[in-house]
Order: sequence, then structure tokens, then C-alpha cells
Amino acid sequence: MAYIIDPPRQAALPIAGSPQLFPVHRIYCIGRNYAEHAREMGHDPNREPPFFFQKNPDNLRVDGKFPYPSGTSDVHHEIEMIVALKSGGVNIKPEAALDHVLGYGVALDMTRRDLQGEAKKLGRPWEIGKAFEHSAPSTPLVLADAIGHPSQGAIWLDVNGKRRQTGDLNQMIWDIPGQMAYISSLFELRAGDVIMTGTPSGVAAVVRGDVLHGHVDGVGDLKVEVV
Ligand code: MN
Repeated sequence: MAYIIDPPRQAALPIAGSPQLFPVHRIYCIGRNYAEHAREMGHDPNREPPFFFQKNPDNLRVDGKFPYPSGTSDVHHEIEMIVALKSGGVNIKPEAALDHVLGYGVALDMTRRDLQGEAKKLGRPWEIGKAFEHSAPSTPLVLADAIGHPSQGAIWLDVNGKRRQTGDLNQMIWDIPGQMAYISSLFELRAGDVIMTGTPSGVAAVVRGDVLHGHVDGVGDLKVEVV
């Protein structure tokens, strides 16, 4: 059977130093996974079950540009490490979770904070705040075979050369195996899934012309211009 229209292009991330692409299935994003960031968003970071929202696979962008989106005057940066899965399953045990990880990257969970805040107030879903076009600028992936599985190390973001966000991967409230165990109790994790693992404190607004430089120790550097 033929498709009645052209099928949408498969969203994908490049692999650093390789001609191969990683095809993206879903993007799961954890909220408030660093205590200081939970506090700055007005929440008590006491250990409670994690929560997730999704971005769309084709929200990823690797060309170093972030087009300022419509309908907002308060777009925030959230620097995050991302995890790319080569396999999945349901009810994954934390001790087996990293076997499913292909690699890692550095990405931004760009957020229309004003629209997200409105949605929170009204008890509405977050898509308009989180899952818009180009909302996930990313680096190419680096393979776990090359770098291992980072569980500590600096994560930071500079805007126009000034440090805005800073933290350490070891400050995650839910580590990556814990996140995968939890997601896979509610969804089937699959090859091609990407997890955005949360942002440290210091989130703030960007404007057109800003140059963002994000970094995760052992993973890489992400440079993005707001256009
Ligand atoms: Mn985030």
C-alpha cells in the first residue's frame, strides 16, 4: 500500500564523527530534576515521584540556530543532558537500564515560560510551553562506547559569555536508571527514544541575538544563537 501523502521525514540526530543518524521515536523530558531548579520554580524538591512531559521528535535541531518562537515574550533556556536509547522495554530495572543506552548529547529544553505558567495556572497541558518547533536545539550524539555513562560532572550554560546555569550531573534527584525505570512502568521505552534529563538552576529569558554555550563534562558543547 502506498501512502496517500508523502510520509513525514524521520526525525533524527547525527552521531558525532560518523555518517550514521539516530532515528528519533519519542522525547521524554523530566521536570524539576535538580533541587535548586525545583526551588527556583517555586516547588519543594522533596523526593516525590518524577513527572514527565514530551516534546515532539522533530523539535530537535542541530544547526546551532534557535528561531525565537511566536506567541511569547518570555522564552527560557534549560540546559540538559540527553540520553538516546538503542533498545527499550517495559518495567526496566534500574540495574539493567544503562544497557539500553546508545549515547548522550547536550541539548536545550527551550520553554515559552509565560505560556507554560498560564497552562499550569489553568490546569492545562504544557505543549504550548514546551513542544513547539525548534524547541530542542541539540548536539550530535556521542556514543556510550566512547565516553561511558556520565553520572557526575559539570553541566553549565553561558549566555553571551556570562555563566547563567551551573550544576553537576550528580545533583539529579532521579538518576538516569531511575528515570528509565519510572518511564518504562508507564510507557514502553523503545529504540529511538530520547530522554531529556532535567536542568540545573539559573533558567532565564533569552532575546534575539543571544549566543548560548552549553556544556556537559565528558559529553560536549552546544552553541546556539537565538535568531
Ligand atoms: Mn527541562
